[in-house]
Formats: sequence, C-alpha cells, structure tokens
Amino acid sequence: MPPTDVQKAPCTYCRSEIAVPAQYAHGDHIKCGSCGTKHKVVRGDRLRLVLADAAPLRDALVQNDQLVTRLEAELAHARGSFGLGANGVGIAVIFALYQVAMKDAPLGKALLVEAVGVAVVSGILLEAANYLFLAKRQVMTRLSAELEEARTEGMHLRQKIREAERV
Ligand SMILES: [Zn+2]
Repeated sequence: MPPTDVQKAPCTYCRSEIAVPAQYAHGDHIKCGSCGTKHKVVRGDRLRLVLADAAPLRDALVQNDQLVTRLEAELAHARGSFGLGANGVGIAVIFALYQVAMKDAPLGKALLVEAVGVAVVSGILLEAANYLFLAKRQVMTRLSAELEEARTEGMHLRQKIREAERV
C-alpha cells in the first residue's frame, strides 16, 4: 500500500472511527479524537486498534468478578428461600384438603360451612402460593438476566485485556 494511505479503525471505547496514517507502525500509540482513549495500533491481516493501557480494564474485571459472585449468591438465595415459602403454603393447602376428604361425616350444614371455609382459605393460600411463585420467578428472571449480562461483560473485558497485552 502507498505510504500516504490512511486507514480507519473503530475506537474500542466509543466506537467512533479513528484515522490511522500509514506511518503509524504496529505497536505505535494513537489517541481517539472523540473520547481521548489511548490505543495501540495492530497491523495484522487488517488494521485494528486495542487499548494501550489494560490497567483500567483489569480494575473493571475485578469489579465484574465481584458482581458475578454477588449475583450468583443472590440467585442461589432466591432459589432457596422463596422456594421454601411457596412449598410451605402448598403443603398447607394439601393438608387442609386432606382433612376435608378424610372426614366421613354426613353432608350437613356444618360440613358445608366448613367446606366453604376451607375452600376460601385454600383459595387465599393458593393465591399466596401463586404470588410467592411469581415473585420468586420475577426475582430469579431479573437476577439471571443481570448475571448473564455481567458474565458477558466479563468475557468482553478478558478478551480486550488479552488483545491489549498481545501487542
Ligand atoms: Zn473513542
């Protein structure tokens, strides 16, 4: 390629195009005109830019690891605690229905009133179980999404650090 050739590569931070004149050799430093992030020039099959200083990335990775650990613990906690609550309510409902089914008293007004009472209580308990189940699912869905995001971010950080250290 002619020495006057100016190639462009995206900034690793703000993604804006950085013009890299031909006199910039492999490993030379160049700054992003938009955000000021310092890069190193990588001349391989095609021109690329990697971060010049991987230290902030390493700091970010440490924080990211802590976040992942915290989210994993929160998710495990949510799975355990809410589950016990919902199961407890479920068992109470089954126990109430069992009590009614095992009663062989003749169908009278008293049993009818009792059955209605149990039905109402069961309904409330089932609603509570349903509510707990939904609340648990929502918390777990949110935590899973955050964890997924944090792991992806960590993967990107590790990749950027490897790229920065290779030059
Ligand atoms: Zn930039």
